[in-house]
Amino acid sequence: MGREPEDYVDKELIEEIEAATVNPDAALDQSTCVITVLEPNPTKLLPAPTIKVRHGRAPTPQEKAEIAAMLSYRRDHDSKGELKFVKRFILPLNPGFDEFGNMYVRVGDAPETLFSAHVDDVDNAGGRRGVFLKGGNAYLKKGSQAHCLGADNAAGCWLLMELCRAKVPGLYIWHRAEECGGKGSKFFVKENRPMLTGIKRAIAFDRRSVHSIITHQRSERCCSDTFADELAEKLSLYMPNALMTHFKKDDTGSFTDTANYTDIVAECTNISVGFYEEHSRSESLDLWHLCGLRDACLKVRWDDLPTVRDPKKPEFKYSSYSHWSGSTYNGPTYSRSNESVLTHSSAQPKVYIPKGRRHDKKKGKGRARILWDKTKQGVTVPAIKGVSPAAWAQWEHELMEADTRDSLRGMTLEQLVEEFPREVADILESCGYSPSTLADDIARYWPLG
Ligand SMILES: [Zn+2]
Repeated sequence: MGREPEDYVDKELIEEIEAATVNPDAALDQSTCVITVLEPNPTKLLPAPTIKVRHGRAPTPQEKAEIAAMLSYRRDHDSKGELKFVKRFILPLNPGFDEFGNMYVRVGDAPETLFSAHVDDVDNAGGRRGVFLKGGNAYLKKGSQAHCLGADNAAGCWLLMELCRAKVPGLYIWHRAEECGGKGSKFFVKENRPMLTGIKRAIAFDRRSVHSIITHQRSERCCSDTFADELAEKLSLYMPNALMTHFKKDDTGSFTDTANYTDIVAECTNISVGFYEEHSRSESLDLWHLCGLRDACLKVRWDDLPTVRDPKKPEFKYSSYSHWSGSTYNGPTYSRSNESVLTHSSAQPKVYIPKGRRHDKKKGKGRARILWDKTKQGVTVPAIKGVSPAAWAQWEHELMEADTRDSLRGMTLEQLVEEFPREVADILESCGYSPSTLADDIARYWPLG
């Protein structure tokens, strides 16, 4: 039967890949990076591949080559790999730089749409990594020293390059240091405010899977349902081989750069670009989805999308890691069940919203509880006639969230992990960690310890 397809390295195709990349001067160093393309070889009589109907479309050889080359750079923040990636793929677009190193290109005179991706990944070094393509997906090559494939967020970087090259009007930002707490976007928002004048929507291409239009990040609303529904409908309509329900609004977002724009930009979202199990060695990228999404994005009339959300009015949802939701809530005793407070408005009762708390490890059986002290530092809020229980609950929730946030701000990461192990576990999970991928990452520190 000859060799297994997995051993097969097509030299000609590697040459084709080299020729098709945007900067032929920066040739792949094959001692550190071999791109193995596992496609049927026309010169061998292999059985015809099984054809599966899948959404999106097959990548062209040029697209495949460029995306695989982008994935092959290990892009730890501030590493040589990140720098080389930027030189090879972003510099040809002639971007501007801010002092943090965020790169931007403006297409059109007064763009209303911001497109966002990030150049860093969670690998622990720079350099190159082996990538292989199989069945329209990209994976990290077996035995690679790298810690991830880096489709998060090479996929988004590529989409921005494509839209920018197609002259779709927009402000394109390739952020740095997203994986280090969104430092790059935080800097951009603070230091380049005038550039954001007139921006009505911020679109990140940095979400796993293939269906999501993110409406909430870390439980705070980032775009309106109206906007998300409309965008989901348009993308589903234009996505090759997809159902009309392919994209759907999704309120389970964790964090990406556009979360840092929600105070200024009305509609901020994050769209699924087709990667799975990001931040791990088993990360993969669905190239069919990515290329189909590229086509769909070229057809969307971004400036016709509705603008509904008021960036001055933050809105929260109850989330799995809020201290006061579900059974983990050990909080204040004033509550929305106290109907007399809500309905006896003629007496204008005062309601004390308590501030301040202390941690009580004994009562929490090892887990910190937040105890609300009703007697100290109370702020007085008059009950409002006709306020609905839902509105009350929402408002109460927001106040408590802001209050808790303030009181935890001074703690170190280690203290937060120790005090809130369950919450931290939930947050890690929502960031894509599983027990096994976290174990992998922790194990890496043992030789140092
Ligand atoms: Zn990302």
